[in-house]
Amino acid sequence: MATKYIFVTGGVTSSLGKGIICASLGRLLIARGLRVTIQKLDPYINVDPGTMNPYEHGEVYVTDDGAETDLDLGHYERFLDIRTSQTNNVTTGRVYNEVIRKERDGEYLGKTVQVIPHITDEIKSHVLKLGESGEYDVVIVEIGGTVGDIESLPYIEAVRQLRYDVGRHNTLSIHLTLVPYLAAAGELKTKPTQHSVRTLSESGLSPDMLVCRSEYPLDDSIRLKIAQFCNVDIEDVIASLDADSIYEVPLLMQEEGLDSRVIEKLQLEAEEPNLELWIRFVEKIKYPKYKVRIALVGKYVEHRDAYKSIVEALIHGGAANDCQVDIEWIQSDFVTRDNVEKKLAEADGILVAPGFGDRGIEGKVEAVRFAREKMIPFFGICLGMQCSVVEYARNVCGEKEADSTEFNKKSSYPIIDVMPEQKELLDTGGTMRLGKYACKLEAGSRAYQAYGEELIWERHRHRYEVNNRYRKDLEKGGMVLAGINPERDLVEIVEIPEHPWFIGVQFHPELKSTVSKPHPLFVCFVEKALEKAGSGLESSVKKADQVI
Ligand code: GLN
Repeated sequence: MATKYIFVTGGVTSSLGKGIICASLGRLLIARGLRVTIQKLDPYINVDPGTMNPYEHGEVYVTDDGAETDLDLGHYERFLDIRTSQTNNVTTGRVYNEVIRKERDGEYLGKTVQVIPHITDEIKSHVLKLGESGEYDVVIVEIGGTVGDIESLPYIEAVRQLRYDVGRHNTLSIHLTLVPYLAAAGELKTKPTQHSVRTLSESGLSPDMLVCRSEYPLDDSIRLKIAQFCNVDIEDVIASLDADSIYEVPLLMQEEGLDSRVIEKLQLEAEEPNLELWIRFVEKIKYPKYKVRIALVGKYVEHRDAYKSIVEALIHGGAANDCQVDIEWIQSDFVTRDNVEKKLAEADGILVAPGFGDRGIEGKVEAVRFAREKMIPFFGICLGMQCSVVEYARNVCGEKEADSTEFNKKSSYPIIDVMPEQKELLDTGGTMRLGKYACKLEAGSRAYQAYGEELIWERHRHRYEVNNRYRKDLEKGGMVLAGINPERDLVEIVEIPEHPWFIGVQFHPELKSTVSKPHPLFVCFVEKALEKAGSGLESSVKKADQVI
C-alpha cells in the first residue's frame, strides 16, 4: 500500500489546537493497526526553535537524535507513542538554509533560484522523506501558522503540487477552523470558516474535510450550511468542542467519525479500533482517587508552555497512581530564605525546573534546601539538578563558594562547569549536549528501583555538567552519584539516600513520558508525594468536572 499523506491546515486564528487534532487523529489511526507518523512544517525563519526564548515559543522539545524542535512534537510522541526525529520538524529557515547552500555549491547549474520551484521543491522533498522510508502507512503533515499568512504560501503551494505528484487518492486535505458563538446574536457563525476555506481554495487547495472548533455543538443546519458553502459532504464537517483535557480529544474525534471518514476516503485497510488503554487513562484523569500538590519552581511560570512536557509527565505519573496532580506555580525569582517556608508550605512534592541563565537561581537553591531539610520529595531536572548539587556542596559539604560557572564565572569552587572536551567544542562554535545519551545506574539506588534496569537512555539539552573534580567531595558529604554516562564519565543522577525521595537528573525525563508509558521517575515522584500527603484520602476526591 502506498503511503498516504494527510495535510492539516489551520484557519481563522492561531491556537486552535492543530497539534492536538493531528495527534488525536494519529492515535485513532494507530488504534486501528496503521503505522503513522506526524511532521510539523513551521513557517518561521529560525532554523530551529533552539534559539528562541521560552516566552516566544514555549518549550523546546528535543528528540532522540538531538533535534531542537517545536513542542507539538511532544504531543505527537505522547499521543502516538512513537519516536520522532529531525525529519519530523521542518522550518522555513532550514529550507532556505539548504537551498542557499545548494546554490553556493552550484547545484542549480546556473539557474535563477526562486521560491517556486526551488523552495517548494525543497519543502516537498522533506515531506516525501518520511513516506519514502517505507515505515509508515500514513504521514500526517501539520502546516504551522494560519491560512492567509504570507509566510505559509510556499507550504500551501508545495502541498497543492504534492497532491498531484503522489496521486490525489493518496492524499487528504483537512482544514481546522473556528465556528465562533456570537453572544449578541445568540448564534454560531460560519462566515469566518467560509472565508478561510475560500482563501485556501484561492491558493489551489480545497479541503476534503473540515474540523470545526466550537464552544457549542454544531446542529445539522449549521453543518449543512458549512458543507454547502465549503464544498464538502455534511459527514465531513467534524465538530471539535472544547474538552476538559487534551487526552479526551481522540475519543471526541472518534465519536464525530473523524477516523472512519479518513479511512473511507483514503481507502485504508484498517482494523476495528482498540482504544482500551486510552479510555482507561482518560477515566483515571477524570475520576482520580487521590490528589497531591506539586510545587513547580521555575522562572518562566507565567508562561506555562515553557514546561509543557513536565506538566504532561506529571499528569501521566499521576494517572499511574490514580492521582490528580495540582501544580502550584512558584516563581523562583521571588523565593528567598525568609519566605521559602511560607511559599512551599503546602507542597507534597517540590520540582525544580530546567532553565538557562542566572535569574531566579538563588530562589531555586533555597527551594532545594527546603525540600532537603524538610524531607519533602524532591525532583530536580537539568538546571534543577545542578541547583541541588550547588545547594548540597554549600550547605552540607560546607563549600560556601560552590556555584555554577553559568552564574558565577569567578567561583572558587565551580561545582557545575563546562567540561574540558566541551570547552573545545564551544570554542569551535559547537553548543550543547543534545539528544539521547546512555546512563548506567547504581544498583540499589532510587533511580535503579524506579527504572528496574541498569542501562537507560535519556535526552539532554545543556552545556554545563557536574564538575568531575569535586565528585569525591560530594560523595564524602553523602550525596550518591546514582547515574553515570559511561562514554564520557559524566554525572547524570544525584540522590540523597537518607531522604524519602531526593533525585536530581541532568537529563530531561519528561520528554519521554507517554500515555502508555508514563515515565518511571514521574510515577515514583508522584507516589512519594502521595505518601507525604499522607492523606491521599478518598475524601479529598474532587468531582470529575472540577478536575483537570
Ligand atoms: N543552563 C543549564 C546548562 O546549560 C541547564 C540547562 C537546562 O536546564 N536545560 O547546563
